[in-house]
Amino acid sequence: MGSEDCIFCRIVDGELPATLVREDERTIAFMDINPATRGHCLVIPKNHHDDAIAASPEDLAACAVAAGDLAGRAVERLGADGAAVVSFARPAAGQTVFHLHFHVVPRYINDGLQLPWIPQPGDPDAIAAAAKELS
Ligand code: AMP
Ligand code: ZN
Repeated sequence: MGSEDCIFCRIVDGELPATLVREDERTIAFMDINPATRGHCLVIPKNHHDDAIAASPEDLAACAVAAGDLAGRAVERLGADGAAVVSFARPAAGQTVFHLHFHVVPRYINDGLQLPWIPQPGDPDAIAAAAKELS
């Protein structure tokens, strides 16, 4: 996918507006237009990668650093009690914009936001089998 087809590449190129909050050599961060909580922003690499699976280690690392920095700002400047840093890869995971991005979602005690899964104890053998395949 090239920049003409990708809305986040167009934001990087200045062709679409965005409310920027951070920039470095490899990344920009801007406010999400559908915020889950106050201060919800997105970190993206300036280079196009479809998702975290396709991204270069260098751009992934730069995004992680930027996301951590913004999570800290949310706590220090917005009074957040914590932050969720999350990236969805591919439609099955909930991705809707196919340029790698990390959501930085400030969390506030009693903000009512639900995790996208309900933690429940798993079968130890199934966990171990999956771990074997991942190792
Ligand atoms: P995802 O579902 O993880 O791919 O997240 C895509 C995010 O991008 C959503 O939270 C959208 O609200 C956000 N979004 C889409 N278009 C824009 C835009 N032009 N400016 C800012 N955020 C956007
Ligand atoms: Zn792109």
